[in-house]
Order: sequence, then structure tokens, then C-alpha cells
Amino acid sequence: MVKLSEVNLEDSETMDRGYIGEIFNSIQGEGLYTGKRQVFIRFSGCNLNCVYCDSREFRDLRPARCRIELSPGSGKFRYKKNPMRSVDVLHHVKRLVTPSTHSVSLTGGEPLMAGDFLVEVASACRRAGLTTYLETNGTNSKMIEKVAEYVSIAAIDIKLPDHQAISRSNWHDLFMEELRCIELAVKSGVETFVKMVILPSTRAESIARVSRQLAKFEVPVVLQPVTPAYKIRNAPKIKHVYQLAEVACRSGVKEISIIPQLHKLIGVH
Ligand code: SF4
Repeated sequence: MVKLSEVNLEDSETMDRGYIGEIFNSIQGEGLYTGKRQVFIRFSGCNLNCVYCDSREFRDLRPARCRIELSPGSGKFRYKKNPMRSVDVLHHVKRLVTPSTHSVSLTGGEPLMAGDFLVEVASACRRAGLTTYLETNGTNSKMIEKVAEYVSIAAIDIKLPDHQAISRSNWHDLFMEELRCIELAVKSGVETFVKMVILPSTRAESIARVSRQLAKFEVPVVLQPVTPAYKIRNAPKIKHVYQLAEVACRSGVKEISIIPQLHKLIGVH
């Protein structure tokens, strides 16, 4: 497992060029904007290692090539060399935007690992009049601070101890950094919500501990029952998720939703 302190999330890319996993148009399958059509820019690389990760092929920080959808929602791709210039990323984004497209998702892997390249891509999207939607594991508050002015909406994950995203001894540091990211996003005026994936093993104590801290920021919280993937074989029982939602609200969370991954249910990318 990677220690948070060992990961250099800065200077991994230049301002103008960076490593992309794929660019495509689909629907948002998670969180409060589920069902909105988006252009997804999937940045490559991730510093965590969650037991339910369904994007493992995009954890490589410097893949030799990326794939670009040929036309919006077609599911047909061509391959391009990495690193890509931000102007080329914007060119493909504009080509894939349709009248029903709500926003551009800056996702991963972990987009904050793209450093200044993420800032450049996000600002280029905003200059082009597009709404930007950042999906992040919240492990780099310095980067959140840099990119926030170009982010319209942020979906920030809280990784629970049973996600095994990082070694158990480093979990507290990870949690503190996620809270700093949430605080900075909210302070910067970014519309922010928090997402937590619920496993069959997720404990009420973990939800209570996390929720007491989240209550300070008054952000909406989404509980996402896990879709079995990687090391996870089973989804949690819905009664278990209901109980955890009650615990979260008793611990101070004001607004909570239970939203499974829609794109997995309907079988789209
Ligand atoms: S943070 Fe996201 S991309 Fe990274 S390991 Fe966890 S689920 Fe996978």
C-alpha cells in the first residue's frame, strides 16, 4: 500500500502536457448528478488501492497511449499517444459535447495527481464555457486549492478503513487530508458533496466517526452501496445501508442519499 506521505502529487506533469487514460461521453453513474450526461476526461494514475476499484487499468501514472471516443456515446475509440497537450484535450472535449451534455467530469484514476496539467485543463474547459465536475479521492489539499477556482462541482470521496485504500496505520492521515480538501472546496465556493462506498463489512462506528466530522461542513453525503468488483464479491444488504444512513444522520449529517452506481445497472461505460 502507498503511504500518503510518500506520494509526490506535485510536479508529476507539466502545465501543458499530461497523461490521459480516456476521453468519452456517457452518463454520470454516481452521486448527486447521477443520470447527467457528461464528457469524461479520465486522468491516469492513482495513489490509493481500494478493494472495490473498478478503474485499475487507469492507475498507471504514465501510460503510453490513451483512447478517445470517436463520436459522443458511440463506445468506439481510437488511440492517441501520451502525453497529450491540454489544447488537444479541449479539442476532443468540445467534439464530444452534445446539447444534452451537462458538464465535463475531471476523473481518474485520481485527477489531482495530474498537478498543473489538471489546472490547465480545468481552466481551459471553464474558459470554453463548460461546467466542470471534479471527482476526487481528496488526497491533496494543495492541489484542491490550486484548481478550485476552475471547478464548478466537486464530488469528494471519503475512504473508510475497510476500503483498504491505504495501510491502516495511515488511515487517520488520509481522513484528515480528505477533510481539508472538503473544507477548502466549500470555502472556495465549489458546490461540494461527499461520497462513501458502503461494503458488507462497513461498520456503524466508522460511519459515526466520519459523519461527526462531516457535519461541520454541512455538505450532502451520498452512501453508495458497492458494486462487486476487484476484491469485493458481494453488495451490502439494503437494511445494512439503511442502518448506516440512520447512524450518519444521528451523528450530524443533515442531507443523505443512497445511490448505487447507475452506469453499472444499465450496462454503459
Ligand atoms: S481512489 Fe478510485 S481509482 Fe484510486 S484505487 Fe480507489 S477507487 Fe480506484
